[in-house]
Amino acid sequence: MKYVILIGDGMADRPLAQLGGKTPLQAAFTPNMDKIAREGVAGAARTLPEGLPNGSDVANLSILGYDPAKYYTGRAPLEAASMGIPLKTGDVAFRCNFVTLRYNKDRTKIYMEDHSAGQISAEEGRLLIKDLNRELGNDALKFYPGVSYRNLLLWSGGDASVDCTPPHDILGKEIAHYLPQGAKEDFVRRLMLASVDILERHPVNKKRIAEGKRPANSIWLWGQGGKPELPPFSKLYGLKGAMVSAVDLAKGLAISAGLKVIDVPGATGWLDTNYAGKAEYALQALEESDLVYIHVEAPDEAGHEGSIEHKIKAIEDFDALVVGTVMRGLPEWGSFRVLLMPDHATPIEIRTHAKDPVPFAVYGSGGNHGWGAPPALAAGYDESITKLEGALRIDAHRIMEHFVEGRFE
Ligand SMILES: [Zn+2]
Repeated sequence: MKYVILIGDGMADRPLAQLGGKTPLQAAFTPNMDKIAREGVAGAARTLPEGLPNGSDVANLSILGYDPAKYYTGRAPLEAASMGIPLKTGDVAFRCNFVTLRYNKDRTKIYMEDHSAGQISAEEGRLLIKDLNRELGNDALKFYPGVSYRNLLLWSGGDASVDCTPPHDILGKEIAHYLPQGAKEDFVRRLMLASVDILERHPVNKKRIAEGKRPANSIWLWGQGGKPELPPFSKLYGLKGAMVSAVDLAKGLAISAGLKVIDVPGATGWLDTNYAGKAEYALQALEESDLVYIHVEAPDEAGHEGSIEHKIKAIEDFDALVVGTVMRGLPEWGSFRVLLMPDHATPIEIRTHAKDPVPFAVYGSGGNHGWGAPPALAAGYDESITKLEGALRIDAHRIMEHFVEGRFE
């Protein structure tokens, strides 16, 4: 039996007046997804539990079959895994953004101007990281350059309990209210403050300012956590798995769970991604894997952008080029089962992630859907499934048991 998981990131939404009360999933033409829901089983899944951040990392960890309440440690350790940075037990990884802070005249008030320091280039970022390491680094603290403004700080024997705020959540706001809080807040705040001295006088920033670009005049630490100790997916579910995604978080999850990461040329995480290529590489991966997880980022990006048109386009491309290609190619591998769902809703009206229950659908060849419960009789694939009477309701981290093991059949 081969298994494919099809994730349209942030695909679920809420009814929109501009669409006559329909959601983007309802307004889009999605014959392949509709068939999976109509002919398989469908229900509502909770992917973002209370008390954890509304992140794709939490949600995709859940869908992979790991209880996030037990296994989620933070976003940065997953990014570290995808960047090939070794995290030992006892190490804490922080996301270290380069940001642009704006000051009032007498520098008594400081505002978060830009969480990306004007999308600073990777080359400039590397130079800044090098000097931060020279002046602030030591045996216990090391900065690692990433892509653009997305860097990491590794703190050996560190403390992850401090409460930090993502800088993209406080754009334009005064940072005084959002500085790290809790045990070790002094240490983390001092590091951020010390970076200001080094960065403000740095030639890279002087040049950026002269060119009218936003300077990377501070670091901002957040998303921290220790090494995620995930039991290997193959041990938990007895299957060899692979991951197809353009996104670091998903790749980091895959590496942490022992899934093989499949890189696809032209996979961008945006509307211009190589949709069909992702499906074709995934089908190919079934040669040596039992299960492939295909993660497509574009609908989420469109949700954050607040563009109905882009979201519908991303959903229709996902349906035609990813879901369609997979469903056409799968029968060649004999018996199969597919799971279709978003990791979470990214409603256009709020332009960020929400804890809404999301619709999922499972379809197995020969009517073997791997579920004891009766079909929910969905007419198509959209959010209305979550409200159907008698629909399956489940915490996302338990779907895998049903999906691959039919444990409750
Ligand atoms: Zn997501």
